[in-house]
Amino acid sequence: MKKPELLAPAGSFNKAKIAFLYGADAVYAGTSSLSLRTRAEMGDDDLVKTIRYAHDIGKKVYAAINIYAWDNMYEEIKKQARILNDLKVDGIIVADGGVVEIIKQEAPNVDIHISTQANVVSYHSANFWHRNGAKRVILSRELNKEQIKDIITHTPMGLETEIFIHGAICFGYSGRCFLSDFLACRSANLGDCAQSCRWEYNVYVEEANNPGNLMPVEHDEKGTYIFSSKDLCLINEIPEIVQMGVDSLKIEGRLKTEYYLATVVNAYRNAIDDYMANPDSYDATKYKVELDKTKTRGLTTFYFNDRNNKDFQEYEGKQYNPDYEFGGKVISPDQDKTIIEIKNRLQVGDMMEIVVPGQIDSYKLKIDELWDSDTNESIEFINPGKQGQTVKIKLPIEVEENWILRRKK
Ligand code: SF4
Repeated sequence: MKKPELLAPAGSFNKAKIAFLYGADAVYAGTSSLSLRTRAEMGDDDLVKTIRYAHDIGKKVYAAINIYAWDNMYEEIKKQARILNDLKVDGIIVADGGVVEIIKQEAPNVDIHISTQANVVSYHSANFWHRNGAKRVILSRELNKEQIKDIITHTPMGLETEIFIHGAICFGYSGRCFLSDFLACRSANLGDCAQSCRWEYNVYVEEANNPGNLMPVEHDEKGTYIFSSKDLCLINEIPEIVQMGVDSLKIEGRLKTEYYLATVVNAYRNAIDDYMANPDSYDATKYKVELDKTKTRGLTTFYFNDRNNKDFQEYEGKQYNPDYEFGGKVISPDQDKTIIEIKNRLQVGDMMEIVVPGQIDSYKLKIDELWDSDTNESIEFINPGKQGQTVKIKLPIEVEENWILRRKK
């Protein structure tokens, strides 16, 4: 049984460091304007730092140039490809055949990964991309497990497969929709989706013979969320996914918080490692408990187990707000008083958890005392006023920089 790569999103250099700290084998990031999350992208400096940092610790970075590019964008694509080639990025994620050609010419030393945006749903398509230079195909999220197995069986050993295991999904074929472009002038296919599918809509029908008589179509008094998908979660399916021989398991969410990233990566890291160490006793409950401490739109296995599954739309537009929130991040560990950057209000008496890298059980504690990080005076509470607001706190275990703390609401 081969251990799959755990691949996490990195919207910034610091998020990449947190993803690696909590167990990611590789991260993916966007280039400054040519990926499908243009608002989450690292500046060029951050990308350089991420690649150097990752290679120093034996990990990998993949960069996305997965827009469907217009002709006037190709000069920029060539420039970015040459930069990525020089930086020795481990792979470039591409969707558009024209861009694949350019990457082959301008970044000949870099592996090509075919983006989920290219919607590879068959081994015919996977083999086509392999013959045209792909090292990896990121399979379409709309496949079930039988189809994924079939693709793995009918593709050569040299072609790696990657699937999404956690995070947001589209109501249409991954991103190939015009909703955001139409409603917000922000094109999903050029990396600028406004997630218009999550908005509340008023839907009316008009009888053709009775124009002007609009009748509202309402799901309930909370509104009509006709397009909003739940979030994918395949934590229960980890054993099957590992046995199928998928090479890389991807977590979605370059715009998500460091707290979300740490919690989700840590849960899947532990799940994969525990399953590999002891396949007969896999039980996803404890990993799911951790995942439930992050905000979601409800969780679904989408089509993975059943192509007829209808339980992946969140018609009420519900957000599942967990009992926990981002408490803080360790800036400067100290056995006496550790400095943490706070993300929400903290006060004496709050119950906290330290998310311990490599360990599924978080460490629970109660805040007995807080100190102002500038004056060292004892304080009762602190609000997250300015960006980077810090506080001093005594922690009962040894921690390291970038460890994440959560606060029970
Ligand atoms: S609007 Fe929704 S379905 Fe369309 S690309 Fe964006 S996230 Fe996907």
